[in-house]
Amino acid sequence: MTTGKINVQTENIFPIIKKFLYSDHEIFLRELVANAVDATGKIKTLTSIGENKTDLGNLAVEVILDKENKTLTIRDRGLGMTSEEVEKYINQIAFSGAEEFVNKYKDQTEGNLIGKFGLGFYSGFMVSDKVEIYSRSFKSTEHEAIRWTCDGSPDYTMTNDSKEGRGTDIILHINEESNEFLEEARIKTLLDKYCSFLPVEIKFNDELINNTAPAWVKKPSELSHDDYLAFYKELYPMAEDPLFYIHLNVDFPFNLTGILYFPKLKKNLEVQKNKIQLYCRQVFVTDSVEGIVPEFLTLLHGVIDSPDIPLNVSRSYLQSDSNVKKISNHILKKVSDKLEELFKENRTDFEAKWDDIGVFIKYGMLSEEKFYDRAKSFCLLKNTDAKYFTFDEYKLVVEPNQTDKDNKVVYTYTSNLDEQYSFVEGAKNKGYDVLQMDGVIDSHFVNFLEHKLENISFTRVDSDTSDNLIKKDEKRPVVLSEEEQKTIKEIAEIAVEKEKYFVQLEGLSETDAPAMITRPEFMRRMKEMAATGGGYEFMSGMGEQFNLIINANHPMMKRVLNTEAAEEKQKIIRQVIDLAMLSQGLLKGEALNGFIRRSVELI
Ligand code: ADP
Ligand code: MG
Repeated sequence: MTTGKINVQTENIFPIIKKFLYSDHEIFLRELVANAVDATGKIKTLTSIGENKTDLGNLAVEVILDKENKTLTIRDRGLGMTSEEVEKYINQIAFSGAEEFVNKYKDQTEGNLIGKFGLGFYSGFMVSDKVEIYSRSFKSTEHEAIRWTCDGSPDYTMTNDSKEGRGTDIILHINEESNEFLEEARIKTLLDKYCSFLPVEIKFNDELINNTAPAWVKKPSELSHDDYLAFYKELYPMAEDPLFYIHLNVDFPFNLTGILYFPKLKKNLEVQKNKIQLYCRQVFVTDSVEGIVPEFLTLLHGVIDSPDIPLNVSRSYLQSDSNVKKISNHILKKVSDKLEELFKENRTDFEAKWDDIGVFIKYGMLSEEKFYDRAKSFCLLKNTDAKYFTFDEYKLVVEPNQTDKDNKVVYTYTSNLDEQYSFVEGAKNKGYDVLQMDGVIDSHFVNFLEHKLENISFTRVDSDTSDNLIKKDEKRPVVLSEEEQKTIKEIAEIAVEKEKYFVQLEGLSETDAPAMITRPEFMRRMKEMAATGGGYEFMSGMGEQFNLIINANHPMMKRVLNTEAAEEKQKIIRQVIDLAMLSQGLLKGEALNGFIRRSVELI
């Protein structure tokens, strides 16, 4: 038997680790199973190059829970360790790694570091009073197995042991405060989380935990469409089928494999962010990939596996790492390539998917200049007839009829087909094409495109009368005299709240409505920006502003002027205004009641 002091300077580093890294205790299981898998991989390699003469046998790694004795064992039939190797790899290296870690992070209050550092073997002490190693190397002659124990102080003992088979048992004597790890369900959950795709079979209670050959490690040529869908279901059992996927496979200048899926996003962005799982040689590391892929790509699902992403470092370091930058750019390029390919190869199908991928593409264009440059050729605009156009196509379509007097091409759009129905009709009657911009980020996207596209402006259909949506030079004459217009305006102003409605008389067509309510584009956009925090916060306290436009050419106005009783005049104008409000959903409560009563009287 030998006893010794583990090679550490700090007298007792265990309490420090426990104190600072409390939140991440569970990763000990990932680390120990990963070590077992490494050892198994090594014996396979040694066998294949003829250095191991022992029988490979069943190579499954076993996790064994013994509630009674309060132990958790991780057993492998890997290459095992001789006493010299334990001395070197466990007593010196594993512990010096731990000590380095403590010295580095002692002064930080932030938790969650251990998972990024990869303390490996040492992490077993976070949850144990005592750790034992029983190991027999493939090099050992008959009675040469070893037993090593350590109770968490720097002292350890090492003795010979009669262990028969090749490989290593790590036995954790789980401590009082970690007894959650003596629960079968807890261990099962952890194994599912971290070990689902490890390359060596992992067994717990005789049950196989993992798929040793997940789709992403295979060649794309070996996989059918159904294989990709089946793997998606394996990752997210409850999810709807994805729209399409990209298989990543790079060896140079960095190593990266993975499959990214495009989920059905519909119109909202709230769904399923941060679903991408990051693996390091098939060991689950994290499902928060910010910093590794561009932010908008975190809307995608799937897995990325790379040994070249430095995991044992902080996030801020990660973001400046050159490998990570290259990986991020590569993924961005692959995603752009895939979308472009879909667009070019099957436009009909691309259009059919647009409602699901449009929000993703627009979000990407808004947030990533490089992506904008790629996507501007395949980003689509959809009009109210559900026809789709690229930016270039659309400009050609509307240019002839929608160029204003300053030579700007004006794109008219609606943010809500139902609510703005009468305005959409009005614009269409003028021969204008109307775009549907009704997604969550479309109001931002409209502002953005105005900056990006040259000589284009956007106007929402309800921002003005259809005659004025696109300012051309033709003005319709007004039939009422100045004096008459003034009279009508005064009557109308009595009928509405002054701060909210700005009354204007305009000479529209006789067949247009006698009155309409519009939301001036500029004011509306400022309010929208205030609501989403893009500056203009000072406006958020302001109420909504409308224009009340009275059609001076409507025959009703003559009737008002010819009516004797002031009360009667007021009544007609009221009714006309209420109708305009009603069509905008602005008539509510008492006002709505009054309108109904008046209408009944009139009938
Ligand atoms: P790492 O895995 O990053 O090398 P660890 O602290 O996890 O660091 O392990 C230290 C070393 O101990 C390993 O490199 C390996 O040589 C040895 N080791 C740990 N677990 C086993 C095992 N189950 N079988 C054989 N060797 C092991
Ligand atoms: Mg390890």
